[in-house]
Amino acid sequence: MNEYDSNRISDLFKANGYLESSDSQDISCYILNTCHIREKATEKVYSDIGRLKKNYRNKSKPFVFITGCVAQAENEEMIRREPYIDAVIGPQSYQNIPNILSSLNNKAKKFNLTDFEVIDKFDKLNSLKNSDTNVSAFVTIQEGCDKFCNFCVVPYTRGSEYSRSPEEILKEVDHLVLNGAKEITLLGQNVNAYSYKKKTNLSDLILKVGKNKKLKRIRYTTSHPKDMTDDLINCYKHEKKLMPIIHLPVQSGSNVVLKNMNRKHSREEYLDIISKLKKINPEISFSSDFIVGYPGESEKDFNDTISLIKKVNFINSFSFIYSPRPGTPASRMKMVDIKIQKKRLIILQNLLEKIQIKKNNDKIKKVEEVLVENRLKNQTQYFGRTKDLTPVILNNIGDDEIGNIIKVRIDKCDKKSLFGRKYSSEREVAA
Ligand code: SF4
Repeated sequence: MNEYDSNRISDLFKANGYLESSDSQDISCYILNTCHIREKATEKVYSDIGRLKKNYRNKSKPFVFITGCVAQAENEEMIRREPYIDAVIGPQSYQNIPNILSSLNNKAKKFNLTDFEVIDKFDKLNSLKNSDTNVSAFVTIQEGCDKFCNFCVVPYTRGSEYSRSPEEILKEVDHLVLNGAKEITLLGQNVNAYSYKKKTNLSDLILKVGKNKKLKRIRYTTSHPKDMTDDLINCYKHEKKLMPIIHLPVQSGSNVVLKNMNRKHSREEYLDIISKLKKINPEISFSSDFIVGYPGESEKDFNDTISLIKKVNFINSFSFIYSPRPGTPASRMKMVDIKIQKKRLIILQNLLEKIQIKKNNDKIKKVEEVLVENRLKNQTQYFGRTKDLTPVILNNIGDDEIGNIIKVRIDKCDKKSLFGRKYSSEREVAA
């Protein structure tokens, strides 16, 4: 979502006469779009600004904007601590950037825009065309969260659940497809909680998006198990463009920990969703997020997570040691010893890696459908993804294949990626 937001912020600046620059030695405005999910994000902001200050010691200072969830969480405190900052702008206030830009000449003024103005935000952003030209593009359809997991800051930094209108979303999808997108990922902090005026939910929206004839693939992320409704599960039967991988964070396989986290679902309910989806399409894969060493996590709780991972066979997953976020209920709970946390993380990540390597190895000598996204920096190879999002490095194609779904014979793999070449005949596969 931060990638999508960064693009939209860039669109706002461009509409006001600015150009994007990758040379931070010669800029008139510096924007740091931040994420608050992990610890140390705030300190990283200050060290980045420290570097910037050094670069501009003998030059006129660029305007400095801090956007995103760190800005939202820390707001005025940031300007107090670091007067080099000109504006802190929360994720629901980007639409005000043009107003700030027109006031920038008054250099003494500082801006703190951290109110939740999500309706105003999308109303204003809707009128600005999304300039993304990637083959695989993002569209935010929902923001915020009402779930209040005990470890998470999102309900405080992004506000309560809000869904954009289907008309505006479809307009943005059509525009991105005209720009060259062949794959759309529908985004939301709680994407499957999407509900527009209780008339259109995520499954309705997916079917509507799928009607765009030039669009080839649809994905959505991130989902909450509680909102994995039967109509959404059934969508995998009806919409062939919907890719067979679901990122469904479980965080822990232990009912005790799930309750302590206020996740609002049990291990059994989670596994029930997996089996319903597998019944509809046995090829569906699952990825997840795991928090290791959550306050109160016992050895048995941790082993429950390990057994869940073995049961579901997750791929492409994310795992972290629990990191307390200030102000959340979990931050007041007793921490698990860091040595135990680290030991458990290694065990869990080794298991996830083993499953990933096996899944990648299973694809060797097979033919996969790959959407070619771009040419790599080395200029000779190309990058694409399989249906289950695994990265593929390709050798024997040219620019004319960018944006196409091609059949690829997989020759080898490493931990993260597959390596292959365009498949042209049955004989070649057998060879
Ligand atoms: S559902 Fe996700 S975004 Fe919402 S509070 Fe829980 S972890 Fe945070």
